[in-house]
Formats: sequence, structure tokens, C-alpha cells
Amino acid sequence: MSETEFGICPYNPDHRIALFRMPKHIVKCERNYRGPPLKICKYNATHRVLDMEEHLKECLYYRRFIDNRCLEIALTTRIAPTQEDGHVVSTSF
Ligand SMILES: [Zn+2]
Ligand SMILES: [Zn+2]
Repeated sequence: MSETEFGICPYNPDHRIALFRMPKHIVKCERNYRGPPLKICKYNATHRVLDMEEHLKECLYYRRFIDNRCLEIALTTRIAPTQEDGHVVSTSF
């Protein structure tokens, strides 16, 4: 038995939705929504918020994205020096 995670619908806090159903639910709920327009989080399309700056402070997906980017930068800077001597060989052709 796997536990299902639930989230709160951004368009109606009374809706408690299984996370795997959230993308479909949000599309439906968006059509019936009459409140102020919500912004869509770049890092997770099921995050709809009024204040994106406030949201990014606590968005786990954004934090994961930043962590991955830091890791990528760390990896590329470590690889870079080994590629430097490649061009010396190619000029002899
Ligand atoms: Zn809803
Ligand atoms: Zn988010």
C-alpha cells in the first residue's frame, strides 16, 4: 500500500487533491475560478500564487533547481582545465 500525498488546490482551499491528480484538477478549477489572476510557478506548474517572489522563498522545486545549478557549475568548472590542451594537437593538421 502506497501512501498518497495530498495538496491544497490553489484556486479553492476547500479542495484537497491527491498530488498526482493536481495538474488535471488545476486545469478544471482554473476555468471556474473568478478571483484575482494567479501566477504560475516556473518550477512547478501546479503552484499558482498571487505573489511569486514570496512563493519562491518557500518553493521546494525552486530550491532544488538552484541546488542542481550550483552542482552543475561546480562540475563544469572542475572539468574545464582538462579540456584546455586539446587545441594544441588540432593545429598540427
Ligand atoms: Zn480546486
Ligand atoms: Zn513553486
